[in-house]
Amino acid sequence: MFPSRYMPCPSCGESVERVEAETHACDPERVVSHRMFILREEVAAFERQFQEFADTREGRFEVWVASRQVRSSRQA
Ligand SMILES: [Zn+2]
Repeated sequence: MFPSRYMPCPSCGESVERVEAETHACDPERVVSHRMFILREEVAAFERQFQEFADTREGRFEVWVASRQVRSSRQA
């Protein structure tokens, strides 16, 4: 089996020629979107967990307290 001429950059996901891997410079915007792509499952799981918590009695109270704090910090 021949190794592929290209490899995905671990930081930005861009397909980089192996001979250029050492000189490749990541585009910062690509790095961010690549990380978001990798983390999307975690972000989705966090949002689900937060929504479940926010639906509990304790969660509703926490959301109420947080929204009061945000409002009072805006007025200050
Ligand atoms: Zn890169």
